[in-house]
Amino acid sequence: GYHKILEENRKLYNQVQDLKGNIRVYCRVRPFLPGQSNLSTVGHIDDGSITILTPPKYGKEGHKSFTFNKVFGPFATQEEVFSDTQPLIRSVLDGYNVCIFAYGQTGAGKTYTMSGPKVLTEQSFGVNYRALNDLFHISKERKDTFCYEISVQMIEIYNEQVRDLLASDGDIRNSSQTGFAVPDANSVPVTSTTEVIELMDIGQKNRAVSATSMNDRSSRSHSCLTIHVQGRELASGVVVRGCMHLVDLAGSERVNKSEVKGDRLKEAQHINKSLAALGDVISALAQKSSHIPYRNSKLTQLLQDSLGGQAKTLMFVHISPEVDAVSETLSTLKFAERVAMVELGAAQVNKDNGEVKELRLQVASLKAALAKKE
Ligand code: ADP
Ligand code: MG
Repeated sequence: GYHKILEENRKLYNQVQDLKGNIRVYCRVRPFLPGQSNLSTVGHIDDGSITILTPPKYGKEGHKSFTFNKVFGPFATQEEVFSDTQPLIRSVLDGYNVCIFAYGQTGAGKTYTMSGPKVLTEQSFGVNYRALNDLFHISKERKDTFCYEISVQMIEIYNEQVRDLLASDGDIRNSSQTGFAVPDANSVPVTSTTEVIELMDIGQKNRAVSATSMNDRSSRSHSCLTIHVQGRELASGVVVRGCMHLVDLAGSERVNKSEVKGDRLKEAQHINKSLAALGDVISALAQKSSHIPYRNSKLTQLLQDSLGGQAKTLMFVHISPEVDAVSETLSTLKFAERVAMVELGAAQVNKDNGEVKELRLQVASLKAALAKKE
């Protein structure tokens, strides 16, 4: 009866998810900031595509279009941006591994999406906070059937070196890296979002401490908030484990080699290498390639267990609307499109869409049947 319908519904839901694939790319356009001229390079935006108006040197057409799983325009709220991410949060509690990345040039809004603006209000909380909040919320909803333990790690990767941002002495020490996440980085148990906010503050401060003479080091390192979830089913004692990595990537802007030397050049090379490695891994996964090149960067090595297989990946790609940024905007969108493999055989995509549609209809009719029973 009822349970069979629920089971069937879940199976169909999973099938729909499978058809959609485990890799998703969402694009987000930052609004103009106060004082900026508002000549925008962003032409048309709809739910799944974006058109950039290009200067003559990019060809006679004057525009280029890109397709993604979702496009958020400059007026999208933090809540709207997060709402499409919510199913991923639920799957962490079901024992899946999830990676969420923020990609884009410095200033395009990565930190805004993940953490929010400097001065936070309830409305402006970013994905990190909302994800944890949801985790706590859902785990409470399930408290009669599951007992969950949630803990967090915060690390930074700078010049291919991994640092623990939650080291208890406040010092930043080097951490060795083998296997699953960063085993010897502090993993701090948390039970409420208040605790999480405090930890994030500590992490942010530790990050700032290491900034030394370099200005805004945060844009030249990857920062990763990892959430481990362990759930024990009360009746059976069976334990499920899931984890989620929330990664604010280093700025993707290309640095002109003739203009920088020394440390800046070294930083830029490390960033280029690791972002390229991430792109290669994700696109190899999307193509279901037999060799996935995880070993080419610290970032992909660390995330290996959470990229590929049953793991789910979401990349938020950020662009700035300014005319000055158009060349970075185009290279960001090209990178993202390669990651999303949207150009891959249109026929296959259409077939999938048909199946997804059919499954959706089935789910809808099951839901209707369910509603009648109640
Ligand atoms: P990044 O982390 O990519 O370098 P930031 O997130 O720091 O970029 O964004 C740069 C500036 O733009 C910040 O002042 C930030 O608050 C603002 N900003 C970014 N995205 C948005 C947005 N969607 N709405 C309002 N302000 C934004
Ligand atoms: Mg940032």
